[in-house]
Amino acid sequence: MPVDIVMPKLGLTMTEGLITEWRKKEGEPVKKGEILFVLETEKVTYEVEAPEDGTLGRILVPAQQTVPVGAVVALLAKPGETLASAPAPAAASAPAPKAAAAGQAPAGKKKIVIVGGGVGGYPAAIRAARMGAEVTLIEKDALGGTCLNWGCIPTKSLLQSAGVVRTMKESETFGVKCKGFEVDFGAVMARKNTVVAQLTRGVGALLKAKKVKVIQGTASFVDAKTLQIKETGEKVQGDAVLIASGSVPGRIPIEGIDGPDVMDSNQVLAMKTLPKSVVVIGGGVIGVEFAQFLIALGTEVTIIEMLPGLVPGVDKEIATLLQKQITAAGVKVVTGAAVKGIAHKKTENTVTYAIGDKTETVTAEKVFLTVGRKPDFSLLGIDKVGIRHERGALVVNEFMETNVPGIWAAGDVVGGIMLAHLASAEGECAVRNILGHREVMNYKAVPSCIYTSPEVSSVGLTEEKARERGEIQIGRFPLRGNGKALVLNETEGLVKVISDRKFGEVLGVHIIGPHATDMIAEAVLGMTMEMTAEELAGAIHPHPTVSEAIMEAAMVIAGGAIHMP
Ligand SMILES: Cc1cc2nc3c(=O)[nH]c(=O)nc-3n(C[C@H](O)[C@H](O)[C@H](O)COP(=O)(O)OP(=O)(O)OC[C@H]3O[C@@H](n4cnc5c(N)ncnc54)[C@H](O)[C@@H]3O)c2cc1C
Repeated sequence: MPVDIVMPKLGLTMTEGLITEWRKKEGEPVKKGEILFVLETEKVTYEVEAPEDGTLGRILVPAQQTVPVGAVVALLAKPGETLASAPAPAAASAPAPKAAAAGQAPAGKKKIVIVGGGVGGYPAAIRAARMGAEVTLIEKDALGGTCLNWGCIPTKSLLQSAGVVRTMKESETFGVKCKGFEVDFGAVMARKNTVVAQLTRGVGALLKAKKVKVIQGTASFVDAKTLQIKETGEKVQGDAVLIASGSVPGRIPIEGIDGPDVMDSNQVLAMKTLPKSVVVIGGGVIGVEFAQFLIALGTEVTIIEMLPGLVPGVDKEIATLLQKQITAAGVKVVTGAAVKGIAHKKTENTVTYAIGDKTETVTAEKVFLTVGRKPDFSLLGIDKVGIRHERGALVVNEFMETNVPGIWAAGDVVGGIMLAHLASAEGECAVRNILGHREVMNYKAVPSCIYTSPEVSSVGLTEEKARERGEIQIGRFPLRGNGKALVLNETEGLVKVISDRKFGEVLGVHIIGPHATDMIAEAVLGMTMEMTAEELAGAIHPHPTVSEAIMEAAMVIAGGAIHMP
């Protein structure tokens, strides 16, 4: 069968595209990745590549015609195939099924099997079911995966308790005296468990409501369309398989790493008592969030980070401000330090680290290991079906399909940015493509957040990366000029908008301050719509809100801020 070349969906709002030019002629051989045609929408010009080697057999839509997303515009004959015998698709420029565009049942009863009930898997299952597919979801542990059970949600619940402690401590600033309050660690953990349980129950109910069949068990491949459940021997078949098997905590090969007091993030979240002192190895997002939780509750905390600063990957200026605040909260931060070993003695653990030629030690009751996570497909038997993996992650194309036709992957298991909202977006992109769309996964505006105090959020390029790309403009607005930040007594913060100098397009937004993690959504939407700094500055923002600082930072680029000399 020839391969259908379709008008891709390049963004959520795209419904049609204009073919401006064919770069290949009918009958011309093409290699995978070569450009077939150029399309234009209101927003972008995009070169569509050949998905595989072959011959451009038939062009069904000539240049200068507009066709809906999903319409077949050409047929690519596979090597050795002639098109005479190949059936032409119904009508080349026929509109994509209306229901598909609306996200509803276009595809009949295609069977999809999803491995992993985390945020990469369960939203994809619901989306596929909404689109009319028959979906089976296999989960070996708990629905909701890492995010709901051992990640985003439990950590934020703990940080909320820490925030209450901070509020109590500074209550007199607001004219309220709260002397003699106590932290009940057991109750803090119990509330976290209640929040988790409510959400995971909710996921189960949503899946049930959409008639997704949930199988509790460990899946492994029998062949490309069949998985077997280890615990029961049951075999499950699908027209397509989506792997969303996630990730597990990373480890480092140092002496003492398996000691009794060395805990990964899962174990930290199951602690029964509050440790007096902790060494956190790894100053990334997970490490600093745990550090903030513990310091607020009165634990002595030391973070040891190998790189020169905390939260690597975050815009340097923002990361430096966060490090200052974390240090001010009482956390001892050691950077540029390589941990050499952990020695366990009764109730103490001594962590040895090297900074340059100097060797130092720090002693604590517990050691938290937060050195990143690694994609996990260890139980799936992927070599049996020949799925490609590189540097520990499954390899997928821009549509989220692996090298094995019909097997797709999404979420942490494909590596790259490991975040819950991205896992969901990838999973949904994959199932839409399984069900007939041709949607390129768009990584342009992926926000990332740190739920410390102050919060940090960002989307797009950091200043460092943007400078590498070309001429930029930067608008900064410090929160001491923002009325709402003063009301909240949280004026230590900054909004930074980075735009392209030539066209003014916003390339990145970085925020440190109260509500940063909610406010970034505005920048995400704007960047998805390719907004300019001028447009951001011109949008009317509600007053008094911290979000006005985003507008003011954009104003710095587009004519000058109002509340800054
Ligand atoms: C402490 C911590 C805090 C975090 N905080 C945030 C945050 O605030 N915001 C954010 O965006 N991200 C956060 N993350 C990251 C986020 O949790 C992950 O990016 C997200 O959970 C990835 O989803 P996933 O579905 O790809 O994988 P997972 O959530 O790991 O789900 C994979 C599921 O597949 C199952 N599975 C694996 N193999 C098999 C098999 N063979 N058969 C059956 N089932 C299988 C697993 O049991 C698991 O439930 C945090 C992570 C941690 C550890």
